[in-house]
Formats: sequence, structure tokens, C-alpha cells
Amino acid sequence: MADFDTHTGLSQPVPFVVECPQCKQPGFVDSWPYIVSSRDTRARDLLLGGKLFKYTCPVCGQQVAMAYQCLYQHIESKTLLLYSPDSSREERLERQLDELLASGGAAVGYQPRLVFTTFEFCEKARLLEEGYDDRIIELMKVGIKRGMLAEGIIGARDILIYERTLEDGSISFIVTGEVPGDTIGVPRGYEYMKREWGEAVDAVTGEYRFGAAWANEFLP
Ligand SMILES: [Zn+2]
Repeated sequence: MADFDTHTGLSQPVPFVVECPQCKQPGFVDSWPYIVSSRDTRARDLLLGGKLFKYTCPVCGQQVAMAYQCLYQHIESKTLLLYSPDSSREERLERQLDELLASGGAAVGYQPRLVFTTFEFCEKARLLEEGYDDRIIELMKVGIKRGMLAEGIIGARDILIYERTLEDGSISFIVTGEVPGDTIGVPRGYEYMKREWGEAVDAVTGEYRFGAAWANEFLP
């Protein structure tokens, strides 16, 4: 539980040794088991930039992907976002989030989130940073995807990833999968979905994984 202790302020990066798979050069890299958004700004920026789990070999430039469990405490949205590379521990991780939320102190009033891929981790952190409700964004994605599937312009296995918010407030998503790199913009979709579904979403309890599977079941 030490990694989750929001009271002790454990936030020091833990260095560990990586060996470059290409040139075998060993190097040190920082891992962050626990990041507080307003305090650990260097780690937060790495997470937001999709670089938290990447190591670049200083000798040959080879990029190495890492994976380790990380708890992100987003102060502004009161969200505890837990990433684990081990989805077989789902129930245990949910109980750990429960314990944290019940422990009082720094975690009072927080919403739990659990993700098992680094790209979901990064995407959710970015959404929270930009003031979005990630659950509404997931509902939006399902709505968009259903429409595109019906028109035959997207594959069933394609996924939408939040890209950015445009100047007019539209949200653009990257479609990855069968048509990699396609970008679609959605004007005013967020406000609409929040109006339609915000209350129902707020009534959801006991859910930790607000991803595509959840959103698909949630939307009629
Ligand atoms: Zn190397």
C-alpha cells in the first residue's frame, strides 16, 4: 500500500536500471509510482506528453517502452487515476482504490478511475487536465463511432482517441486502427452529451473503468 499512501506524500521518483535492447547499454530511468498533479509537475508533464513510460537510450537513441503501476492524483478534478499493467489484478486494485477513498484525508470526495493501458492513462490525464469529464468523452466516442460504423467509414475495431480542443470549442479525435491517423472534429458534441447524460453519469457508482466497453453498455 505504500505506493498509494496519499498522506505521506510519497512522490520521489524511483530510479531503476534499464538495458537498451539494441546496444545493451545500461541506463537509469525514473519511475513514478505516485504523481500529484499540482506538485509533481515534471512527472505530470511527462504523463501528459505521453513520455512517462518511454526511455530513450542515450547511446543509440533506441526507444524503450516501460510499464509500472502508477497512481495519478488530479487535484483539480478530484480524481484518483490508477494505471496498472496487470489487468489480472483488477479486483484487488479496485479494493485498493476503495480503501484509499475510505481512508479520509487527502482522498476525500475523489472519484476512482482504473486503466490498464498507458495510452488510456495518458488520454484520461489529458482530459482531466483540460477540464473534461472523461465519462462524457467516452460516451461521445461511442456515439460518433456508431454513426461512422453505420455509414461504413470506420471499422468495428477502430478506436477514437482524444486529440485536442480546437479554437471554436470543437473536439477532435484521432481514429486509429484500420484507418490510422484520420482525424475527425466534433462541434459542440461535448456540451450536448453532458446535458443529455451528465445526471445519469453522476448517478453511476461502483464503476472504475470508464472506457469504451462501459460507454457502449451505458448508451442505449
Ligand atoms: Zn542503445
